[in-house]
Amino acid sequence: MKIVFATNNAHKLDEVSRMLGKNIELLSLSDIGCDEDIPETADTFSGNALMKARYVMEHYKIDCFADDTGLEVKSLGGAPGVLSARYAGNHDSEANMEKLLHELEGKNDRSAQFCTVIALLINGEEHLFEGIVTGHIAESRQGTGGFGYDPIFIPDGYSESFAQLDIDEKNCISHRGRAVRKLVDYLNTLQ
Ligand code: IMP
Repeated sequence: MKIVFATNNAHKLDEVSRMLGKNIELLSLSDIGCDEDIPETADTFSGNALMKARYVMEHYKIDCFADDTGLEVKSLGGAPGVLSARYAGNHDSEANMEKLLHELEGKNDRSAQFCTVIALLINGEEHLFEGIVTGHIAESRQGTGGFGYDPIFIPDGYSESFAQLDIDEKNCISHRGRAVRKLVDYLNTLQ
């Protein structure tokens, strides 16, 4: 089975391709010749994931899935949430982390969660899969692996940040890992 993951984020492609079985060939947006910046202007993760997946289906007519992810910080009322990628600057992870650390200065409650929603469009049907991981925001960056907010997110039960865990360990417990396992379980029922 060939399926498009509507992203060109190499970290995401690497994380997800490790979790799909050998029977599923993963294609990126560039693999199908799509270099557009697909709009994600909805105010929910599921809305954005559906928007991206529907765009690919409409323009390329191929089975696909898209994810939308965000970091929700309790004491900031769920911010940055759907604005996670553009919190401080456009897809500038360093600036986004800097702003978040600044906003949390002096706050006792640093609890947060990552949420991923995957929208799958296949056989004329739409399916949504959600994954959540709870944790807290570190006082400063820890580790150099991963991407995005990984250096400042410490998952519950760990003292290391996501950026200090190896990729398979992160996949085991992460928001995206949880959502992808639900996706894979569903895809396996189709084969
Ligand atoms: P998007 O789902 O690619 O739109 O991601 C939204 C924001 O969350 C971006 O700033 C990403 O860098 C960040 N992000 C997405 N997934 C992860 C992750 O697994 N770890 C850390 N940051 C992430």
